[in-house]
Amino acid sequence: MPGTFTPRGFIVLLTAVFAVCGTDRRPEVTARAAEPPASSAKKKIVLIAGPPSHGFGSHEHRAGCLLLAKALNENVPQADAVVITNGWPRDPSVLDDAAAIVVFADGGGRHPILPHLDQVGRLMSRGVGLVCLHYAVEVPKGRAGQAFLDWIGGYFETHWSVNPHWTPQFTDLPKHPVARGVRPFAIRDEWYYHMRFRSNRRGWTPILNDLPPAETLRRKDGAHSNNPHVRAAVLDRKEPQVVAWAYERPDGGRGFGFTGGHFHWNWAHDDFRKIVLNAIVWSARLEVPPGGVTSKTPTLQELLANQDFPPPKQFDPKRIQRMIDGWKQDRP
Ligand SMILES: [Zn+2]
Repeated sequence: MPGTFTPRGFIVLLTAVFAVCGTDRRPEVTARAAEPPASSAKKKIVLIAGPPSHGFGSHEHRAGCLLLAKALNENVPQADAVVITNGWPRDPSVLDDAAAIVVFADGGGRHPILPHLDQVGRLMSRGVGLVCLHYAVEVPKGRAGQAFLDWIGGYFETHWSVNPHWTPQFTDLPKHPVARGVRPFAIRDEWYYHMRFRSNRRGWTPILNDLPPAETLRRKDGAHSNNPHVRAAVLDRKEPQVVAWAYERPDGGRGFGFTGGHFHWNWAHDDFRKIVLNAIVWSARLEVPPGGVTSKTPTLQELLANQDFPPPKQFDPKRIQRMIDGWKQDRP
């Protein structure tokens, strides 16, 4: 962006003003769009929420991104988090001054980055951080897969990785800014595992891992369900599986992959949420506080807000509240 007010800058600003329609972002971001990033005290974090997906309470990309952005803006003074809904921004210049991009969306062949690999590649080469949550860690093998290895250090590769629902016990947390203030925890999610990682592990740090139980590999072989490679790793070699990892690129840019995030309610687990908030802050090259990014637990009301689908008739809010209360026990 030009620093002085040029006709081009004015057009960019106008475009940004019109692009605000249909996005959830704070209006002051638009005014700053014509300023060079260096003049901004805050770092802009763009969360890209994919279109509606699985139904009530799961893959709630928009509601999840809004909760995360609120937690960042309320608790990280240097973060300016904005949410783009319904997929890739219609005005891609919104990403030009981003310090980090977070993608929470359906992936595979529908991954929002796929048609924009060149643009994202240019941003990555400038050191922009990239955080991919849940299905957004999956891209097709080949050019996109290789790009993800370069940008975030790993991805879900079909016929290699798997997507069972299970409850890992995260007892072994590394000394890394992303794990700051995070206590050991366990939580059920669709934790994908046996991800494809870089063969050169320099700069790559496992953040969450556990050995999955054998029942996670009872399904027939398939693109996402099971395969001989994962059985050899888990059932024969008993290799703990990494479900969240941080990657520092050789040029200093940062990436993070997190395979949980299927159930929207899990954002109310304080350690689950803290890991992701820490990772976003770290990927934007901001300092993660010594105790990690602490944020208020979303209430049930807040969790129900902004979801893409209405609750089904049999929805029992008391069950969700009991689950959240259970997570709070022993964690004052
Ligand atoms: Zn899922």
